[in-house]
Amino acid sequence: MGLLTIGAFSRASRLSPKALRLYDELGLLPPARVDPVSGYRFYDPAQLARARLVGRLRRLGMPLAEIRTVCELAPEAAAAEVAAFWARVEADTAARRDLAAFLVGHLSGEGPISIRCAALSDTGLVRSSNQDAAHADPRLLAVADGFGPAGAPASAAAIETFRRLPAGAVPAGDPLNVLQDTVRQADRAIREATAPANQAGTTLTAMLRTGSRLALVHIGDSRAYLLRNGELRQITHDHTLVQSLLDAGRITPEQAATHPQRELLSRALNGDNATTADLHLHQPTPGDRYLLCSDGLSRVVDSTQLHQAVRSAPHPEQAVHDLITLANEAGAPDNVTCVVAEVTAA
Ligand code: MN
Repeated sequence: MGLLTIGAFSRASRLSPKALRLYDELGLLPPARVDPVSGYRFYDPAQLARARLVGRLRRLGMPLAEIRTVCELAPEAAAAEVAAFWARVEADTAARRDLAAFLVGHLSGEGPISIRCAALSDTGLVRSSNQDAAHADPRLLAVADGFGPAGAPASAAAIETFRRLPAGAVPAGDPLNVLQDTVRQADRAIREATAPANQAGTTLTAMLRTGSRLALVHIGDSRAYLLRNGELRQITHDHTLVQSLLDAGRITPEQAATHPQRELLSRALNGDNATTADLHLHQPTPGDRYLLCSDGLSRVVDSTQLHQAVRSAPHPEQAVHDLITLANEAGAPDNVTCVVAEVTAA
């Protein structure tokens, strides 16, 4: 088969003649022959494979310089390069998604909010000591449930690490990297607080104010709930063995409630530097109420009662008091801790 004119090659490759001239100039796809007199470009049909690859990489949004690199590589290395490029695109998109959400809120004149909150922790009726920890101020809401011989120092260290974050350390537009670092710091603090045995760890469910938003950090089986428009919704996912079995459809909710290993955590902060936290950004609106609690509340007080208590209390101080009372009325076999926050227009 003879050489193709640029028009024929353009139709076959679905690259425009203008694009083909550009790719020639860049050395990305030089024609097989250029007529020395007319300057017309001619292409070998064997060049179609490369032309199609270039077209597809363009549709992927890959810059031309990078496309040239990929085209020079052996198939396996080229595949790795494309995968690496796409991972960068996805990471960049995630960062820009958060920034866009921030800007949408900022530009649509989202009014400043203010937060009123309260925390309360109780040993319960069975345990001899309280290994839960809690914190509530307008900037940080946190509940941690320590376990093991040094459970109390572990839960305290986790919250303290977040409490010590200097104001302004968490950028409003893109806070998740800083939060991920802070989780690692908390993990180190727990390792130090529980040395030398290190047989301890903690859950952590925290919401940190950043601009007009709340960043949620979650590890373990403490929970966060949001009361909005009259409905109470759990906004964290339990990191427990039983939840994994439920998610996989291997047990029913009824079996989960009575599972012998229902307290076994699949993730916790235990100083092993191997924990990833769930991180999310929440956009609070005036009227919202948030509830953070340890499993000592959510295991014994059902969601209908939680809903009722969070909704009907006149203010957060009353809500946390009522919630602890409900847990104690239910026998409080574990330490009970809760934080309630109310969002109002500033
Ligand atoms: Mn507990």
